[in-house]
Amino acid sequence: MLFPSIVYGPIHSRRLGTSLGMEIMPLEHKLCTFDCVYCECGWNKKVFQPVLPTREEIRTALETQLRQMANDQCLDVITFSGNGEPTLHPDFLNIIRDTCALRDRYCPSAKVSVLSNSTQLGRPEVVEALRLCDNRILKLDAATDEMMRRIDQPVNELLTVTQLIEWLAQFNGDFTLQTCFLRGEHNGLPIDNTSSQELEAWYKAVETLRPKQIMIYVIDRKTPEEKLEKISREEMNRIAAPLIDKGFNLIISA
Ligand code: SF4
Repeated sequence: MLFPSIVYGPIHSRRLGTSLGMEIMPLEHKLCTFDCVYCECGWNKKVFQPVLPTREEIRTALETQLRQMANDQCLDVITFSGNGEPTLHPDFLNIIRDTCALRDRYCPSAKVSVLSNSTQLGRPEVVEALRLCDNRILKLDAATDEMMRRIDQPVNELLTVTQLIEWLAQFNGDFTLQTCFLRGEHNGLPIDNTSSQELEAWYKAVETLRPKQIMIYVIDRKTPEEKLEKISREEMNRIAAPLIDKGFNLIISA
């Protein structure tokens, strides 16, 4: 499933409310630093020349949409996600600056949110851009290197969980941590971030990072790896319980 235009929606998001989607990655194929086994956009393409919309094209598309909507539709959020990792756009900081300015002008109550896989948090301009947003929704699917690599398949094979946690810690908890729980198999190797060993490592990472919100969710649509299992609501409740008991703000989408 690919998002077809720079601005799409508004759609009702189970996690975010009435959301205007922003697609600043290529429209024809996913461009991402991960290749998650559950990615709704399919697998990364080995060879392709990505064509990204320019800052000006993005600003114009958003302004046109916000002008049309200003009088008759209530928007909760403008959300950057879509066909890959939005922070890869080389003009990401300016795009966020433009978006915040347009939001202030046309729809001041709307939040600006970015869903990111956290892999670009070593770049200061990405961190600066994310600090300008109202919501930073940042992925950490597993807290052991082996499971993170099996689930997310980072393009940078040297990426570690320790590095991701260090980068996430820059926000001093002022972000939403997002984790997809799943089980299954890929390339003959088991995938399971719900085992007691994996959960122990993930709880520890959560306690270290103390995010203001945690979103845990399950597979919802067709996945490129077909041998994956959706975790039940009951099991998600069990995964969440120890953190809820400790006072964390946790949302389950299951
Ligand atoms: S980080 Fe998101 S866009 Fe990238 S592969 Fe994973 S699910 Fe797909």
